[in-house]
Amino acid sequence: MYEHLLSPLDLGITTLKNRVIMGSMHTNLEEIPGGFERAAVYFAERARGQAALIVTGGIAPNEEGYITPKSAKLSTIEEVAQHKLITEAVHRENGKICMQILHTGRYGYHSGIVAPSALQAPINFFKPRAMTEEDIQRTISDYVQCAVLAQKAGYDGVEIMGSEGYLINQFIVTRTNQRTDNWGGSYKNRIQFPIEIVRKTREATGKNFIIIYRLSMLDLVENGSTWEEVVVLAKEIEKAGATIINTGIGWHEARIPTIATMVPRKAFAWVTKRLKGEVNIPLIAVNRINTPEVAEEVLAEGCADLVSMARPFLADPEIILKTMEGRTDEINSCIACNQACLDHTFQLKISSCLVNPRACHETELQYLPTTHPKQIAVVGAGPAGLAFAHIAALRGHKVTLYEADNQLGGQFNYAKIIPGKSDYGDTIRFYTSMMKKYNVHVILNHRVQARDLLDHNYDEIVLADGIEPRQITIEGHDHPKVVSYTDVLSQKVNIGKRAAIIGAGGIGFDVATFLTHQTPNDDVISEFLKEWGVDREYQDAGGLSKPKPNQPAREVYLLKRSGGKHGSTLGKTTGWIHKAHLTSQHVQMLSDVEYLKIDDEGLHISIKDDYQVLNVDHIIVCAGQLSSRNLYNTLITQGLQPHLIGGAEEAKELDAKTAIHQGCTLAARL
Ligand code: FAD
Ligand code: NAP
Ligand code: SF4
Repeated sequence: MYEHLLSPLDLGITTLKNRVIMGSMHTNLEEIPGGFERAAVYFAERARGQAALIVTGGIAPNEEGYITPKSAKLSTIEEVAQHKLITEAVHRENGKICMQILHTGRYGYHSGIVAPSALQAPINFFKPRAMTEEDIQRTISDYVQCAVLAQKAGYDGVEIMGSEGYLINQFIVTRTNQRTDNWGGSYKNRIQFPIEIVRKTREATGKNFIIIYRLSMLDLVENGSTWEEVVVLAKEIEKAGATIINTGIGWHEARIPTIATMVPRKAFAWVTKRLKGEVNIPLIAVNRINTPEVAEEVLAEGCADLVSMARPFLADPEIILKTMEGRTDEINSCIACNQACLDHTFQLKISSCLVNPRACHETELQYLPTTHPKQIAVVGAGPAGLAFAHIAALRGHKVTLYEADNQLGGQFNYAKIIPGKSDYGDTIRFYTSMMKKYNVHVILNHRVQARDLLDHNYDEIVLADGIEPRQITIEGHDHPKVVSYTDVLSQKVNIGKRAAIIGAGGIGFDVATFLTHQTPNDDVISEFLKEWGVDREYQDAGGLSKPKPNQPAREVYLLKRSGGKHGSTLGKTTGWIHKAHLTSQHVQMLSDVEYLKIDDEGLHISIKDDYQVLNVDHIIVCAGQLSSRNLYNTLITQGLQPHLIGGAEEAKELDAKTAIHQGCTLAARL
């Protein structure tokens, strides 16, 4: 079934064992004391998991190219030894690894940033200095020196980062390059910078060194490259000596989501396909390729020679090994939430993964076989209970998992039906398969009472029984128009054409998305591209077109009592996307709301003393959660000492990242 994905690829200088590359991700590991040792273990696990080739996170070729003042760089011989820890660990597993060279240009967060022209990026508060001719020549030499040092450190190659709006990309387009010398003006002049870097890197590293060039094939910003320019550059990069061309989609300052969960799977594979046949070296397709099935489709459809998966290797280091062994139901799939990877990176925290908290913490969080197997009861099969049951059983404990509902998954059963979040169902599929694999005794349709636990002689009791949605107490709270989000998402009620949502947290946003969504047509990729204004025909430079969102299915108000903008509590890298989507659906986002009462007329509110009635058919309560401690309190009074995890432990600011992390860490130490 995975004949394309699992077939080897001869690069002429070396052979890759299959078609899946682990793409570059900045984890912040290289920036902390002892981080290279940790990175070595992290990469080695992915090599053992049969990634055909690994690309490291971005390493700066000089200080001006830093992401932040403390970023990793490779510009001196003294820095080589720490990289050897990584290359040797990967080679011991028979893996291959390339180091990404990343110069941020005007995207660096420090005062010493440089760029082709002194034009500040809209997403940065630092303004760059325009590079002089001497700066440009020196920077090209720095790239080459960095590649030579990477070779000395034992890397199999380098990836030269030429996309996402970083320095090289800034040279290529007039949006950021307004120079009047030999490095600006005509397209030929503007692409000299990447061409020189690749040509001189090839000269300096010899013919057997892998050079991947990440080419921005779809800038998604105004005044980006035209398609014809992309093709010219690809041909020149091939001529200059690159081994492989990787695809770059969208600058960081683009206002179009490219990897978040609502981006359909393989939504940008068509871009790489356009370039097929224009060059003779292999091409890599990227973005939202998160399962072997999707990767196989991309390859079988002839979109590319290789696929790059980055976050899926955080979620499951063995994604390819499991595919090779026919165990795809055991793959812990990336759900594209960004909550523990990209959001962490942008907060300068160590990256990890919501569904796999071991990612980048391999040396700290270890699941070792237990020497004292215990009988353990787990109450609640949401993310926290499932994560605990999985790891405890894997370690050799005898686990009984009780669930009141008729299915596993807890609140993820609601999350997975939100438009754009169907991937969350994969987490439930993964845990279902782990419960079987590790012989967890699952008892569904059973709401545990204290006596169930008292009757058994369990060694440990873990309460993962989650939360209760918070009720509102204003006048009319029991009016038939008032429903909970659980009633809406379990489709127990038919919501009318006008609805008001009380509470604008993550769930309020998701419910607004659910209510405004029209039944999609079958071509979800075309629909997505149309909504966000991406032009497959590439009629304008940068590939933008006028966004054409669908009409909303309902008129929705999204309300909160606090002041300030909506969406500020959502994820750093995804909040703006949710908000832009709801804005396109004409959702009315009201802040500073005082809820007065509910009656047949609708919801009576006041905003800064301005009284109004929202004449709606339904009022949906998404006002946060409360932990339910009844069972816990009863057990305590009976002299038991249950453990609490997930929402059962603390409902405030609970999310699945915390729930799964708590489940795994408790199971690792019991
Ligand atoms: P729960 O998921 O609530 O699971 C508790 C389980 O215990 C339930 O299955 C319940 O039936 C069971 N139970 C309760 N009492 C008993 C009993 N006495 N006996 C047996 N079983 C019992 N989080 C994110 O991080 N990112 C998101 O994008 C995200 N999206 C969401 C979207 C929606 C629409 C919703 C509703 C939630 C979303 N969340 C998201 C929140 C996330 O799902 C929760 O934080 C997470 O599910 C909490 O896990 P938990 O295991 O503690 O509790
Ligand atoms: P939440 O994010 O805490 O939001 C609760 C909302 O209810 C807030 O807007 C709050 O705003 C309002 N509220 C609180 N008490 C109220 C009261 N007594 N009366 C009226 N309104 C009240 O919680 P949630 O939306 O339930 O989400 C639960 C968790 O799931 C969150 O931690 C969230 O991160 C996670 N989640 C994440 C995503 C995601 O996309 N990343 C999606 C869904 C859920 P005001 O006080 O301003 O009114
Ligand atoms: Fe994927 Fe979310 Fe894990 Fe990041 S945190 S790797 S997006 S599942």
